[in-house]
Amino acid sequence: MAPTLSSGMEFKRALDLAHNGDLDGARAILGRLQGDYLRLCEENETLRRQMDEVARILDLAENMEFDGQKYWLLENFKKKGPFCQVCYDREALLVRLQEHDKHWHCQGCGNLYLKRRASNAGKTGLRSVLGKTIPLFGD
Ligand SMILES: [Zn+2]
Repeated sequence: MAPTLSSGMEFKRALDLAHNGDLDGARAILGRLQGDYLRLCEENETLRRQMDEVARILDLAENMEFDGQKYWLLENFKKKGPFCQVCYDREALLVRLQEHDKHWHCQGCGNLYLKRRASNAGKTGLRSVLGKTIPLFGD
């Protein structure tokens, strides 16, 4: 049974029994109260841990950035990661992705994230710049 406010009344009852010489009765009540107390301590500890976890997750969420595919953690103006979107959204776990030639791999859930062609985009950008430059010489 979960301890309630009436547990407070039990202390008074135990005291009354002790005053009247019923030490066994008093001892039985105190034993029960001790059990209640230990359960409360355990429950309190569990709730405390859950609260810390929620606070940690909320704190983390404020510093997370989603690039449309993966998460990045912003810490002291530095970008850390990337981290798996699936693991973070499902379990609030930050699982760092392993980098491969053409993709990122999550060792937590096995998900693959194809790399965007950043280097090709760079070349295309250069080509378009050259494309604009060359006609200038042509003229
Ligand atoms: Zn994952």
